Amino acid sequence: MNVLDSQLVTGQLRAMGYRFVDDWRGASVVLYNTCSVREQAENKVYSRLGELGIYKRDHQDVVLGVLGCMAERDGVDMLRRFPQLDILCGPGELDKVPLLIDNAVKTKLGARMDAAESAGGGGGLTAGGRAALQGNKHRRSSTLAAAEDQLELLDLSRSFSPDDYSGSAYVRITRGCNKFCTYCVVPNTRGAEVHRAPDHIIDECKRLVDAGVVEITLLGQTVNHYHYDHGASVTIAGVQQPQVGQAVSGPGRGAGTRLTTFADLLDRIHDEVSGLSRLRFVTSFPRDFGDDILQVMADHPRICRYLHVPAQSGSNRMLELMNRGYTVEQYIDLLDRARAYLPGVEIAGDLICGFPTETHEDHQATCDLLRRAQYKNCFVFKYSPRPGTAAITRFQDDVPDVEKKRRNNELLAIQSGISEQVHSRYVGRTVRVFVESVSHKAAKEADASSGATVTLGWEKPVTQLSGRTDGDLIVVFDGEPSLIGSIVQVRVERSAPLTLFGRLVEQAVIA
Ligand code: SAH
Ligand code: SF4
Repeated sequence: MNVLDSQLVTGQLRAMGYRFVDDWRGASVVLYNTCSVREQAENKVYSRLGELGIYKRDHQDVVLGVLGCMAERDGVDMLRRFPQLDILCGPGELDKVPLLIDNAVKTKLGARMDAAESAGGGGGLTAGGRAALQGNKHRRSSTLAAAEDQLELLDLSRSFSPDDYSGSAYVRITRGCNKFCTYCVVPNTRGAEVHRAPDHIIDECKRLVDAGVVEITLLGQTVNHYHYDHGASVTIAGVQQPQVGQAVSGPGRGAGTRLTTFADLLDRIHDEVSGLSRLRFVTSFPRDFGDDILQVMADHPRICRYLHVPAQSGSNRMLELMNRGYTVEQYIDLLDRARAYLPGVEIAGDLICGFPTETHEDHQATCDLLRRAQYKNCFVFKYSPRPGTAAITRFQDDVPDVEKKRRNNELLAIQSGISEQVHSRYVGRTVRVFVESVSHKAAKEADASSGATVTLGWEKPVTQLSGRTDGDLIVVFDGEPSLIGSIVQVRVERSAPLTLFGRLVEQAVIA
């Protein structure tokens, strides 16, 4: 979600004539797009702001901004703590970033001129032009949030220049979240859940494909919860507004309703965006995952057999305290249904360890679920109490950090063994791979030796490339950098817990 936000803001700034530089030290505007989900991520940003504060002592004209969830969560307090900050802009107001920069630059210029006049020249800057925009902190009523959703314009104004995509793009289908898991800041920082009009989404996908995109990942905090009621749709200034609705169960398609469910949306994109080779989506919420979605996935070969569906815990007591709204049994039922409908589907998960009051038995239940789930990979997080969440006020963070670490390591060790098994099953098989980039390892070697591409006896340069299978497994293989952004066939020769190593099948570019 944050990657897409950054892309949308940079696209907007580029269209206005801003250029991007590799080193922030050469920039006149420095923006940090931030995440508040865990404290560690926030601490990194605070430390960068400290560094920028020192830099700005000698470079006062530089405009410094914090965008995203930290700006929303920490708000005006951050402006007080960091006088070097010129701009704060929450995720609900990102369409206004160019305006805020413009304002900050003008105010600095104005302040410089005033100072020069009053000091007879050579004066410094006064602290002016500081602006904080927060949209979601006080969640508006759902209807209002949808009707006032200016962000739709940001999505609609995205760049479709082929230079901005190397074959893959994100498309947001819902914004915000209404689930209020007790540990999570997202419902506060990103606001109420709103669903974008399907015609906008499909149009965006078509234009991306026209710009050379072969893989689209649909985004939403609870992506499978998507639904759009055409009967209740509102158009303001020619823009069909995003909307809020109730949870939907069962298929909308063919039922005589004027509702587009998530299954319907997948179906429409698959059929109407025929040039698209791969359609994926993240992140799924266990409770709203009906068989209608699985059926559409089974019927449509270009929809990837990959699900990221976080469990968070294997203990029903923890799930209840987390307000997740499902039981371990329901979660396992979803995994079983997914594997029955979609043979070969790969599933990834998220777990939180050390949530308040988590006992040894609760933790063991999570270990059991992990063994049962057979994920291809699982992200494990130590519980981090976040300001503004229900958990921080309701519960004491009573699992000591050393114990959280121990549980974290135990879960990672179990998953590592499972990941190794899952990956080893691919050895000897030929898989479709979307080529993403030069592999990190090759890129590092390139930095060290200034040039990792090797020219073999004949002319074409070869380097180590990295990509992903339809099931989201990472594959590394040798190939020409020109393959980045296309889909190729790779024969897998060996595997590690999180990587497949293979050889490009000759003449294999599929898209
Ligand atoms: N919407 C997604 C996840 C969004 S946040 C979902 O509901 O699954 C990404 C992940 O961060 C979560 O799945 C959770 O595992 C983790 N996370 C969120 N808040 C956290 C917290 N306070 N402490 C530790 N991990 C957290
Ligand atoms: Fe956070 Fe829960 Fe919403 Fe995911 S579903 S974003 S964890 S509140």
